[in-house]
Amino acid sequence: MDFDFDADQQAFIGEVRAFLDEVRQWPDAADIMCPERESDSILADTPARKAFNRELARRGYLGLSWPREYGGQGRPGIYEYLLNEELSRVGAPLIGKGVGCVGQTLIRHGSDGLKREFLPRILKAEIEFALGYTEPHAGSDLAALRLRADRAENGWLLNGQKMFTTSAHFADWYWLAARTDFDAPKHKGISLFLLPMDQPGITIHPIETMGEHVTNQVFIDNVFVSDDYVVGEVNKGWTYICEALDYERFTFYTFSPLEEKLKALRALLCTEGGDGAAIAARPHVRRHLARLTADVELSKMLQRRVIYASSQGRVPTVEAAMCKLYSTGLHQRLADFALDSLGTDGLLHKADAQAPAAGKWEWSYRATALDTIGAGSSEIQKNIIARRELGLPLRF
Ligand SMILES: Cc1cc2nc3c(=O)[nH]c(=O)nc-3n(C[C@H](O)[C@H](O)[C@H](O)COP(=O)(O)OP(=O)(O)OC[C@H]3O[C@@H](n4cnc5c(N)ncnc54)[C@H](O)[C@@H]3O)c2cc1C
Repeated sequence: MDFDFDADQQAFIGEVRAFLDEVRQWPDAADIMCPERESDSILADTPARKAFNRELARRGYLGLSWPREYGGQGRPGIYEYLLNEELSRVGAPLIGKGVGCVGQTLIRHGSDGLKREFLPRILKAEIEFALGYTEPHAGSDLAALRLRADRAENGWLLNGQKMFTTSAHFADWYWLAARTDFDAPKHKGISLFLLPMDQPGITIHPIETMGEHVTNQVFIDNVFVSDDYVVGEVNKGWTYICEALDYERFTFYTFSPLEEKLKALRALLCTEGGDGAAIAARPHVRRHLARLTADVELSKMLQRRVIYASSQGRVPTVEAAMCKLYSTGLHQRLADFALDSLGTDGLLHKADAQAPAAGKWEWSYRATALDTIGAGSSEIQKNIIARRELGLPLRF
């Protein structure tokens, strides 16, 4: 059994690494590559990070898996995954929702007008999107969403509230799910819309999270959207959202940050521990590090199963649930162990000059909780495994 990438994929990885070595020479490289930035490192939220994405576009790294007729390269999705792995390894922004779920859904279901307007701009990294799914009463049970879209002349009038919209404070367009039919079963009355973020009637309030990831509440008051900006068919939004989540599972949850963190922690614990010996020389620390090394390898294998299932044309729902559940929990366990091993110094905030590893682990301890919630909480991943893998009955 061969778990490695093939020669062409290895060559691609080498090419991306060479490109990233070039970027390291850019004057603003420190803003672009921030592996220590625990929470928002995947976002293109500063001018330097946006410029970096435009350079990715210029070199043809956006739309790798898009069909050629839409300006893509028609390569298998694994190349996008490999690109994101290398980007996240150095803490650079990922290729994003535009080329990912938004672009992929528009290609499959968008009107010719939406394709013409958005696809070329996505490929040039000219626009950023925010995804508006979650609401105050609809998170895990997303199909319960209530933001209403009422029929108006040549379009729809939107009213309601969204929660936890990442990127809303710098995005150009809102990819928004709204209820267009209140009488239909809940999964069958949802539609997807595209609306400009700067449209009057949209109010954005930041939510500061404990991990320093900035997300947002978004209020929508009488916002008109013309029929031209409905994505696909009215009331088919749930199908499109599910398809897009499958795509996200494939490219979004990268493994390399876990590997890099373990390396960094091992190096840190090999330094002097105050009593003349390295912290890593203590028996319980050695045991724990060895255990975590095996766990990180296991996480890699779970990720490879997601890739394998996708490459076989299967939707990797169960594989992705196992991978997300395990690897987000492992990120937390790594941070826990780091703080336990570093003693009280480990609790120092990154603003404190005395903080070990510039406060990385204290930040990591706060930030890693978020990944166990976003894009489906750990409990929801367990439900997926219980239902789809084990066929366990549900009891209400
Ligand atoms: C950092 C971050 C970024 C995010 N970005 C976005 C974004 O850009 N766009 C967007 O739309 N949303 C975003 N979200 C929202 C995210 O998808 C939701 O937070 C998540 O789906 C959980 O929903 P909820 O917060 O409403 O919690 P709830 O669904 O209310 O869940 C509360 C608790 O109950 C548990 N629970 C719920 N249902 C069940 C069940 N059936 N069985 C067992 N346990 C259950 C959950 O696991 C959780 O512990 C983001 C969230 C985070 C943390």
